[in-house]
Amino acid sequence: MPMDPRHAILFEPVRIGPKTLPNRFYQVPHASGFGTRRPRAQAAFRGVRAEGGWGGVCVEYAPVSPDSDEIPAVAANIWADGDGPALALTAAAIHAHGALAGLELVHGGAGSANGSSRLPRIAPSQAASGVQWGGLAKEMTRDDIGRVQRDWVSAARRACDAGFDIVYVYGAHGYLLSQFFSPQTNHRTDGYGGSLANRGRFWLETLAAVRDKVGGECAIATRVTVHGDPGVPGAAGLPGIEVEEMLALVAMADELVDLWDVTVGAWPDDSGTSRYFPEGHQRPWTHRVREATAKPVVAVGRYTSPDLMAEIIRTGAVDLIGSARQAIADPFLPRKVAEGRLDEIRECTGSNICILREETFRQIGCAQNATAGEEYRRGWHPEIFGPTSDDRPVLVVGGGPAGMECAVVLGKRGFTAVHLAEAQAELGGRLRWIRRLPTLGDWGRIVDWRRVQLSQLTAVQVITGCRLTRRDVLQYGASVVVVATGSSWRGDGVQPGHPAPMPGADSRAPHVLTPEQVCAGQRPPGRRVIVYDTDGYFMGPALAELLAAEGFDVTVATVYPVLSPVSDETLEGETLRAHLHRAGVGVCHGVTVTAVDSSAVHGVDRYGDPWTAECDGVVLVTQQVSQDALYRELTADPSALEQAGIAAVHLVGDAVAPRLISEAVFDGHRLGREIDRADAGLPALWRSERPNPAGPAPRR
Ligand code: ADP
Repeated sequence: MPMDPRHAILFEPVRIGPKTLPNRFYQVPHASGFGTRRPRAQAAFRGVRAEGGWGGVCVEYAPVSPDSDEIPAVAANIWADGDGPALALTAAAIHAHGALAGLELVHGGAGSANGSSRLPRIAPSQAASGVQWGGLAKEMTRDDIGRVQRDWVSAARRACDAGFDIVYVYGAHGYLLSQFFSPQTNHRTDGYGGSLANRGRFWLETLAAVRDKVGGECAIATRVTVHGDPGVPGAAGLPGIEVEEMLALVAMADELVDLWDVTVGAWPDDSGTSRYFPEGHQRPWTHRVREATAKPVVAVGRYTSPDLMAEIIRTGAVDLIGSARQAIADPFLPRKVAEGRLDEIRECTGSNICILREETFRQIGCAQNATAGEEYRRGWHPEIFGPTSDDRPVLVVGGGPAGMECAVVLGKRGFTAVHLAEAQAELGGRLRWIRRLPTLGDWGRIVDWRRVQLSQLTAVQVITGCRLTRRDVLQYGASVVVVATGSSWRGDGVQPGHPAPMPGADSRAPHVLTPEQVCAGQRPPGRRVIVYDTDGYFMGPALAELLAAEGFDVTVATVYPVLSPVSDETLEGETLRAHLHRAGVGVCHGVTVTAVDSSAVHGVDRYGDPWTAECDGVVLVTQQVSQDALYRELTADPSALEQAGIAAVHLVGDAVAPRLISEAVFDGHRLGREIDRADAGLPALWRSERPNPAGPAPRR
């Protein structure tokens, strides 16, 4: 398909200082969890985004000084001469596809962890530095200021020598440059505090010094924060940084900067989830930077639609479409736009599972793109699937995220006969009903992308409304069976630490409901409802919001000290709690429900004292259970399998263990890639990385 001419504007080159970006797709710096610790994984992860057509591809935060040490988080440290070669691998991988490579040079100041270096944190002012990791920061002397600036310059030199085209003087997200700029964190009375010009001096001097050293060779980018929406918790801007002041700084620094990279508010706002922030919610703020500069501007907006991207460029407010999460979800978005393959774009769900995984020191991952982070260690490519010579017919039972993903991968690999059988009339598994809950609509993109893919794969036949029994499977004529029958919520009150059914908890009674029952339309017999939540993520709050909107008097009783602690890992905890508060939902923290009757729930509070809440009904968001009966029945009788010509039966997704949707997708994907290995039931071992990139490549 040819490109839609309306999208041609996205493929115009953009000059930034001494460099030219080949198009307007720009992968902004974002954490990957690879840093310089896993240089090959970093290189493969960024390289595939360049291959997919992103014209600029940036690496995450690269602290310029040892007193900006992020451990336990993983950063791309560049404070020592040996740090360059690790990053050179990444710059080369990006260049191999004609893109420009950027590096986020940063100093965290008072926000640094310094867990490894054991150096004191540094800040413009001690009193205003805030307590973190058990102590206050050192107030920077003039010598410290000069030293950090020299570190920045040396780091910029190393970055250029490593092949980077764009170096950042990064001030967003409350790092050291912002700490100097904000009067709340800068109480200095010398030339670096007080007036706007003084508070901006450290930033401007650093820009000038970096420009002096590498300006002719590299483009200089700086990332600023403008105000966010004052009505949204966690989004009301960075403390003390006002938009008018920031615009004044942009005007003052303009001649030193080749690319303005603009964010809003604090990170939970800038990377707000789709549950609470629509695409492009930052526009009223970020687009104001154009008032102060004619230089190229990039801003993010979790844009997934090329129509919207082109429209935004046409406004003239920004020159580049910045993206982190969409580039994780679909590294090949630009190429798909260029080739008019719009229905193949894997749209980001905005669930921030990438952030949850990476920020909690897991391998980065994505609910839409199972290959994210697996480019090097598993050798997975988002668009290339090792072809198979295996022509055995495969039956996939269960059309949830795991079964759909597995069938898509099998179809793309060239399996000639794949049948995907789903009991319900619609594909999607648990997402069929989750996507209909308040705020969770965009998660349905996981189903939509796979449904479109399946419709285009002629070798895959989808059969819906067909619940297969053991007998059906044995008679089906398949040689390989994948059981992806998922999980369901328990209706008996079994919960973590309490493996016995809860007295009175029986979802056959009208006053006891499971999440599935609520979504199927069942309601408690009276107005007062307790949602009992030991799950800690989205399900309890979403059901509470649904019922509150219908006029029920809803309280969430949670075992945790805060409502939905998992949502803090996806950056949406504060917003979620405010949202529910405004929806009129009450919360009881730290309670364990141990019994239910038709007029109350009973249990203990966090101190072990008795606790009771009167109610007309309870929704149990306690624990899920794998629906693996079909797998157990099939594998219990190997001779019946042999007679039926079934060589292998595999179990994937929630039917193995109920997990995040991203993990069910990953599981289905993994099996699809490895199903023709001799021992496909066991995941193949992945490559581990030795830290020395100059050494011989590790072998699998
Ligand atoms: P996962 O996330 O692991 O894909 P889900 O629970 O979301 O799990 O989806 C499992 C799907 O399997 C559901 O759509 C369910 O209707 C379907 N299913 C369960 N048992 C059978 C069966 N015996 N035959 C066909 N489909 C089934």
